[in-house]
Amino acid sequence: MSGPEGRLAPWLGTQLSGLLARRSHALLISGPSGLGQYELALALATAWLCQSPTEQGACGHCSSCHAVSVRTHPDLCVLMPEVLSLALQWPLDERVQDELDSKKRKPSKDIKVEAAREAVAFTQMTRSGGDTKVVLVYPAERMNSITANTLLKTLEEPVGQVRFILASEAADQLLPTIRSRCQTHELAWPQFDEALAWLEDQSRDDRGRAADPQDLRVLLSAAGGRPADALARLREADAKQAASQWRALPKAMARGDVAALSGWSPAQAIDALQKLCHDVWVLRVGGTPRFFQAQDLPAGRAAVASKTSLYALGSWSRELAVSARSAEHPFNSGLMLEALTSRARQALLTD
Ligand SMILES: [Zn+2]
Repeated sequence: MSGPEGRLAPWLGTQLSGLLARRSHALLISGPSGLGQYELALALATAWLCQSPTEQGACGHCSSCHAVSVRTHPDLCVLMPEVLSLALQWPLDERVQDELDSKKRKPSKDIKVEAAREAVAFTQMTRSGGDTKVVLVYPAERMNSITANTLLKTLEEPVGQVRFILASEAADQLLPTIRSRCQTHELAWPQFDEALAWLEDQSRDDRGRAADPQDLRVLLSAAGGRPADALARLREADAKQAASQWRALPKAMARGDVAALSGWSPAQAIDALQKLCHDVWVLRVGGTPRFFQAQDLPAGRAAVASKTSLYALGSWSRELAVSARSAEHPFNSGLMLEALTSRARQALLTD
């Protein structure tokens, strides 16, 4: 949702001003993914390091802001799983990069203890000239207890002007000792229309043309109102196609049409089916669906949902939760999508 050089999404900008007013040396940004917790954390780090910050954030023009934007600031240490460092273009340690280049191992999905040790060493080195050093940890729940304990001592007794920002979508999984050293900021959700306007802006092409707001509305609802997730979808598919694929999904599943899941990984398909299951349930008990529009959902044949139909949705939901845990390493993704589709059809047609 914009790097340090770009403009921060409006709901993040408001939160940034609030955070800058705090004096704490350790902040924990906690909240669901897809709302921009990493962007907010990075904007805060950039502002802390900036040579002429304002109450709204970093100036965006000084040499420090520039160094952050090109990922070479000597007073900023970013602690992440290696897969994420690669995705977000943060340089890795030379030795690590060599290991990955020579395919000795795969990039880690967790924050490695070696990286935490380097972060500790970073806090103990003399500063390069600025007043402040910053350690950014994201996502903080990817530290196991050994890694977290490595960092803990520094977090408890920081040397000089070291400040910490931890960002996490699962703060309850952090060690209580880590949590208690930080001031927590609960990430605020944007209003739906605010997020929609931002998404429309982000969807503009080179000629300044934005995607159809109706399609964006579908994609934002599909993402449960999480704008960064909707944007990620928009970056991998055309808005119109993605929106019509989403709208067609429920009835296609009721027909057992596996083609509706084409182009999706098992993990994406399971996520979509969990949302479908949720919405069908809500609709059958008289509520308003959250991820789909009511008219796109398959109608139950009975006017009043039977216990059997709710029971079928309940067991489908539990099975999807189990599948979600193994979806990263499917034995055969084509077969898995077929199995998911036939299971969806069965659950949706029970009444
Ligand atoms: Zn600056």
